[in-house]
Amino acid sequence: AAVSPFLDPGAQTSEGQLALIHLKRDLLTPVILEPSTPDGEATERRVINTRFGSFPHSNLVDIPWGTQVRAAVVDHRGRGKKKDKKRKREDGGEGEDGAQESGAATSGFAHIVPPTPETWTTSLPHRTQVVYTPDYSYVLQRLRVRPGDTIIEAGAGSGSFTHASVRAVFNGYPAVENGTANGADSKKRKRNGHVYSFEFHEQRAEKLREELREHRIDPLVTVTHADVYEDGFSKTIDGVAPQADAVFLDLPAPWMAVKHLSRTKPPAGKSSTSTPQPQGGAEQDSSLSSTSTSSWQSPLNPRKTIRLCTFSPCIEQVQRTTTELRRLGWTNIEMVEVLHRRIDVRRERIGLQEEGLRGTIPMPATVDEALGRLREVEGRLKLFHESTAAAANQDGGAAAGANVEKGWGKESKNQRLLKIKELEKERKTYKEGRLVHRTEPEIKTHTSYLCFALLPREWTAADEEKARRKWEGEG
Ligand code: SAM
Repeated sequence: AAVSPFLDPGAQTSEGQLALIHLKRDLLTPVILEPSTPDGEATERRVINTRFGSFPHSNLVDIPWGTQVRAAVVDHRGRGKKKDKKRKREDGGEGEDGAQESGAATSGFAHIVPPTPETWTTSLPHRTQVVYTPDYSYVLQRLRVRPGDTIIEAGAGSGSFTHASVRAVFNGYPAVENGTANGADSKKRKRNGHVYSFEFHEQRAEKLREELREHRIDPLVTVTHADVYEDGFSKTIDGVAPQADAVFLDLPAPWMAVKHLSRTKPPAGKSSTSTPQPQGGAEQDSSLSSTSTSSWQSPLNPRKTIRLCTFSPCIEQVQRTTTELRRLGWTNIEMVEVLHRRIDVRRERIGLQEEGLRGTIPMPATVDEALGRLREVEGRLKLFHESTAAAANQDGGAAAGANVEKGWGKESKNQRLLKIKELEKERKTYKEGRLVHRTEPEIKTHTSYLCFALLPREWTAADEEKARRKWEGEG
């Protein structure tokens, strides 16, 4: 049975699997490894052409994840000539292999890595703005999403958040058994957790379904094409209400959707944000409970406190959402902005100082470094004088004896300088300079404001009675 490489990539790549070609930092190319044609005929024509060279699929299958693969010389029909798929380069970067038989570039190398939500987010085809790793990792932990949980997300967009949530809810049970997706079996679905994804744009919804199938995580996600402002979250394409534990809304107007995240049937009317129903809390009239009224079913898990997060770029959107959440009885409303910064830590050479022997070297950063440097220069001068004396007394003068013992012979001045340089190699140049850290300037810091809120669990008359009995020790 096909296991998703997102959930269990195994030890090595295999045919038909999604893999990522890691070309350099932040540059990954997703590829389904297909060295054969769909009818099974083997071919080496399938090639990934990059500016670091060409990588035939046939060189990428059945190798351990993380392998460094060299670009191949590719003939005009796209056949890889280098068969040595596991050949590794030690020197890094683009190599010397310039030979070109066709237009395809050769010379570089890449690493082949398994797909993860993080690598997928970096490389996925953008159909919309996406939620990036720093935001979704924070959101998922604040929503306390655990294996076996059910999440609602809207809109699905490019599926970046979808992939991260699938991994968060996956409980380790095979998503596919006997070749059949067990996502339709509600018991198995519960065990593994589930993501109910809503998307208003039909093509986007269909594209996401396709991708999820390709990534073999479709049994864990139900993508419903719907306008959640109008239709809410109870009607899914599967015909079941999600009973979600957590909700993530990445919509232009989340305040228009929250009335549907209700334990009671929301008032009818087009996109109305008025006439809210108070929700949660012991004072709620249990006769309004979703379990006791009409065919409408709440999309929320009645036994749990529901955690919600909305994702909006503007503060005005947050204000509208929080006003609506307060009116609807949500509590603990809080806004967070994740300011993600990549910090570059390195040693900085502050100013330069000319030094004949070593060329240009950095100025010392501290008094200790300066003292160390002085001692070093003194030591080197001493060595130089000793070697000069040794050279002058080449013919065996008694005064030179000690220096000859040290190995100074009849070298030229340059040879002696080279030798001194060799002796200096033990110096730990990587420790030179002042340790500094800088924020990388090109990184965007503001993505969106995250607005969190809680909806207390449903509390019915039966729950109250049960609690009373427990309190009074009646069982
Ligand atoms: N979270 C997604 C991701 O990580 O890839 C990106 C979501 S994108 C910014 C917003 C999506 O919401 C769009 O695809 C849009 O079509 C969808 N959308 C807008 N209004 C909607 C509605 N009323 N119901 C459902 N989806 C809606």
